[in-house]
Amino acid sequence: MSVKLATITKPGSHRAMNRVKYAPSQLQAISRMALIVQKYGGTSVGSVERIGAVADRVARFKSEGHDVVVVVSAMSGETNRLLALAKEIQANPAPRELDALLSTGEKVTTALLSMALHERDVRARSYSGNQVGILTDSAHNKARIQDIKLDTLKSELDAGGVPVVAGFQGVDVQGNVTTLGRGGSDTTAVALAAALKADECQIYTDVDGVYTTDPRMVDGARRLDHITFEEMLEMSSMGSKVLQIRSVEFAGKYKVPLRVLSSFEEGPGTLISTEEDTSMEAPVIAGIAFNRDEAKLTVIGVPDNPGMAYRILGPVGEANIEVDVILQNSRGENETDFTFTVARSDMDKAAQLLTPVVAELGAGEVLTDDHIAKVSVVGVGMRSHSGVAATMFKALADVGVNIQMISTSEIKISVIIEEKYLELAVRSLHSAFGLDTVETTA
Ligand code: ASP
Ligand code: MG
Repeated sequence: MSVKLATITKPGSHRAMNRVKYAPSQLQAISRMALIVQKYGGTSVGSVERIGAVADRVARFKSEGHDVVVVVSAMSGETNRLLALAKEIQANPAPRELDALLSTGEKVTTALLSMALHERDVRARSYSGNQVGILTDSAHNKARIQDIKLDTLKSELDAGGVPVVAGFQGVDVQGNVTTLGRGGSDTTAVALAAALKADECQIYTDVDGVYTTDPRMVDGARRLDHITFEEMLEMSSMGSKVLQIRSVEFAGKYKVPLRVLSSFEEGPGTLISTEEDTSMEAPVIAGIAFNRDEAKLTVIGVPDNPGMAYRILGPVGEANIEVDVILQNSRGENETDFTFTVARSDMDKAAQLLTPVVAELGAGEVLTDDHIAKVSVVGVGMRSHSGVAATMFKALADVGVNIQMISTSEIKISVIIEEKYLELAVRSLHSAFGLDTVETTA
């Protein structure tokens, strides 16, 4: 994804001078005029009442003196409804026509929200991606933003208005309407915030922030005040439900502070930024991520010779199957087992691809297992702390969970375990790393 920042006009200097810097979790501290991009997801604009509530919040920010650019999704269920209509007519509609259709959902919301703002005496104008100059490549249904023309947005801001921009869509050089892939409104918001050099990009949704782990699995899961982009990306197994992952990458690249908040209740949400908490009490682990969507393949009896990993994983990569964890151990004898994991939906295809390879190599057979899960402890703090792995393995040992594979990165340790122990593993890690909510005694 590339916003050609060089080609993007700088925002008015009056705004640059008033740049405010506020600490994590202190939304209230935005005391001077700031430029804020607010994105409202489908549930936040899911009814006329909810659109009214959004307009109330936007009006409040305006009355406090901030400049606000709003990006909206389609009303909840709308994109799916349009998709279903298309499928009733044709099994595989032309991607260009699909984009022409799906992009209408967001446009409805922009017009309705603008009306709701007018009703509150706030100047506002709705814009499609095309009108606001969001230029993309021509990859229909999964287009990438290439450039954003800021003239329209800036003149509306300068006139004191609120631009209400349709998320998820753009236009290619030929003038065709494109869409950015499901959940793409987040990316629109971040791209606009980057281009405008906004002080913050706020993503309003139906949860009040990013949690230490899935609160549906662990009662004691806590909302994080702050998390780094790197951590957020590693937490993606849960984060992706909150934010389109591509938007987090984008925000990290352009250092746009992102805040996830609830549009239904007031609160500071979770700030996602580049800043690391370097205080002595900073937690070593930000959260516990997990992923059930993994499957394991093991090639038995692979000759212990150079080139085997390539012979096995080459065809898998060529088929665009992403490999996650890899395990191989050469004992210097003549054969080894080679194990790796892929997305569950790719397991059968990968196994099929390996059948001829196994025969060529003179290896044994390919075993598959789709009853596995991956659990990861994530935190930038582990860079400077030893013993994180030991704590993790002890916690799993204490509850009798067997570790099948291990992989590490600078800020993450992941283990592959049997799927049926997933909840047990996540709960015990969550408490072993001190992440549970502190119980207050009554
Ligand atoms: N309406 C689009 C979708 O449902 C884009 C978005 O909501 O972000 O995927
Ligand atoms: Mg969304």
